[in-house]
Amino acid sequence: MSAAALHDASCIFCKIIKGEIPSFKLIETAHSYSFLDIQPTAKGHLLVIPKYHGAKLHNLPDEYLADILPVAKKLAIALELNIDSPEGDGYNILQNNGRIAHQVVDHVHFHLIPKRDEKSGLIVGWPAADADMGELSDLAKKLVAKLEQ
Ligand code: 5GP
Ligand code: ZN
Repeated sequence: MSAAALHDASCIFCKIIKGEIPSFKLIETAHSYSFLDIQPTAKGHLLVIPKYHGAKLHNLPDEYLADILPVAKKLAIALELNIDSPEGDGYNILQNNGRIAHQVVDHVHFHLIPKRDEKSGLIVGWPAADADMGELSDLAKKLVAKLEQ
């Protein structure tokens, strides 16, 4: 089985899309399927997945990727997380790629995780440090050159 194809018979999320494993479905479109996470980190923690078996983000055709964020937006509004102030309840959109990046299920999924307090939802480690401007400049040049190839 290659990293990307319409369905993978052994994939738990492909089985959920096909209805072979039950789920609490929320929105289904031609390209996406969304459902409640079975081990939520906060009330309303849900997943939006492409109806295409790609293990990682780069395995997905663009039309599947383009469908996902509008679905996540509708769901954030349904969860009453559409608060137009920096204060109050918030939410994180999280998409993990690879074991080291905390991916357990090898079918691309976007978590929508309500953040209502310090203890529930996503808890982030963020090892930030001031950058060396010369290194940033070199890296940007290298990447832009690669992107222009
Ligand atoms: P990951 O760590 O791969 O980004 O997250 C996988 C997510 O899928 C976890 O939050 C986990 O709770 C959820 N999950 C795994 N299996 C199932 C399942 O069978 N049903 C549902 N609804 N969620 C699942
Ligand atoms: Zn799959």
